[in-house]
Amino acid sequence: MKIQQIEISFPAPVELPDGFDQTLSCLIGMVCKQYEKENPTRVMWAAGHGSKPIWNEPNEPDFDSSVYVIDVSEREDTAGSNKYNPYREKLKAEARKQREERKKNQKCFGCGYKKSECKCSEQPLQKR
Ligand SMILES: [Zn+2]
Repeated sequence: MKIQQIEISFPAPVELPDGFDQTLSCLIGMVCKQYEKENPTRVMWAAGHGSKPIWNEPNEPDFDSSVYVIDVSEREDTAGSNKYNPYREKLKAEARKQREERKKNQKCFGCGYKKSECKCSEQPLQKR
């Protein structure tokens, strides 16, 4: 049986006890893991939690602090994060390469040159 939402309503206002968040994250993690097992090229994770936003476009949303919401996101596993992904090693290697490429092309704040061509560590910035 597949579901897409869980609703819990309390008959009176309650305080969420210490540790509730972590325990709930754990339960949601179970669901995400199961989903990733069934969908090896996708990833799913709890992306955020807090008061329920009441959308009011184009303005900023209001929040209903009496409703606690957890948002779960899902997308293609582009970086090989899903351990069941048959292309995991390849995707991880590509993601690593892209990260290194990005790092190499980052400009130094000191001299404005690419980090790979930066001489700041050899030659400290001159005082004005
Ligand atoms: Zn530099």
